Amino acid sequence: MLGFATKRKWLYPQAVTGPWQRLRWWTFGLLHLVLFATPWITVQGAPAVWIDLPGRKVHLVGAIFTASDTIFLLFLLLFMAFSLFFFTSLFGRLWCGFACPQTVFLDAWVRPFEEWIEGGWVERRRRDEGPWSFDRAWRKAVKWSVFLALSFLVAIAFMSYFAGARELWTGTAGPTEYALVGIFTAVWYLDLAWFREQFCNYLCPYARFQGALTDSDTVTIQYDINRGEPRGVEDAADKGACIACGKCVFVCPQGIDIRDGFQLECIACAKCIDACDIVMGKLGHKTLIDFGAEAELHGAKPRRLRPRTVLYGGLLTGIAATVAILLAGRAPFDAAVARAPGSLFTEDADGFVRNTYLLRVTNKEIGEAPVPFTVQVEGLDGAQMLMQDIVVATTETRTVPLIVRLRHEDDSPRTLPFRVRVSSPTTSVALDATFKTGGHIDDE
Ligand code: SF4
Ligand code: SF4
Repeated sequence: MLGFATKRKWLYPQAVTGPWQRLRWWTFGLLHLVLFATPWITVQGAPAVWIDLPGRKVHLVGAIFTASDTIFLLFLLLFMAFSLFFFTSLFGRLWCGFACPQTVFLDAWVRPFEEWIEGGWVERRRRDEGPWSFDRAWRKAVKWSVFLALSFLVAIAFMSYFAGARELWTGTAGPTEYALVGIFTAVWYLDLAWFREQFCNYLCPYARFQGALTDSDTVTIQYDINRGEPRGVEDAADKGACIACGKCVFVCPQGIDIRDGFQLECIACAKCIDACDIVMGKLGHKTLIDFGAEAELHGAKPRRLRPRTVLYGGLLTGIAATVAILLAGRAPFDAAVARAPGSLFTEDADGFVRNTYLLRVTNKEIGEAPVPFTVQVEGLDGAQMLMQDIVVATTETRTVPLIVRLRHEDDSPRTLPFRVRVSSPTTSVALDATFKTGGHIDDE
């Protein structure tokens, strides 16, 4: 039975180098740069990326998205989901092997540090299987301290997107933010120091449903059974080429033998490809393990255009086009009008009926200077409007009372629809509202 009922077999994957690992290291470097540098970048004085949960707004490269832009969040989630479906159906678990944060930190930091402090895989295993000694204790203490420091760095980098990198590093963020850094540090520490491949095998939801997204045309890690088998029998390029050296198994961080066929545990890290490439290279042969579709092993040509890839690709294109259209028509400010709580209308001594509203304006434009807004009432002939000037600084929200007065007419309907037009120097939006005339129900 899969799960925690079985005793965990601790893995000691052997280190390996090769073209695929070099490509992974370049990818890791780029991802580290994005993760650690982005929170320090500012655009027009504001963070380039900042998820301000208490303020309910998101800064994204000079644009500000507020609660009224929730539709973009929905589209973003849909885009991410269908991207995952699309790329998984085409290329399998490339995300897991090349970009998943757990894989990146394990291979970029944890395993190299482990080898540096505790030695190679044979030495590590021998020491772990032996009794506790001073040598074993100090190495473990140093290693776990390094993992704790690394977990703290990762946690603070992650929290920087929410609380600001400068604030967190200078000690000016709030206690909640530091408490969350502590929680994320503990979670990362547990994962990097202990949980590791178990997360992929038992907890990761993506690993669970990837089986439904792939088929025999998907590019995955494949062992060339036609050339490799029967293993260890011959030393030839085209038949029985596998010399059963076990290198592909020794390097696997998931503890699987890819020669048994594609397995859901495989994270496409390509370590077995590089390992076999070294072994086969010495014999003058091509690697027996490579990226490829299962269909190729049966002599078929893999299809890129399949119902599922066309469907996912079409949906992705549709989502991207919709977002582009919505972004093009998006106003640089939010405005909302609502009736002031308390009364529907008031009759003034001069024969006018007064309705009072609250107008809320959020300036989503990044810039030094506050933006002045003008307000007009449309669709109410003879209406008077009383309102103070409204000037809103960047990213701020202001709520001001808006009074609309209309001369009382005995034959007026009880409710008159009208619009409040709010204009910035560049854009204007019209808000629907209603005016209560004070007329009787019988008049309608
Ligand atoms: S089988 Fe190969 S690609 Fe898959 S996890 Fe193991 S080493 Fe990585
Ligand atoms: S590394 Fe290559 S040759 Fe060695 S056991 Fe694996 S598949 Fe066979």
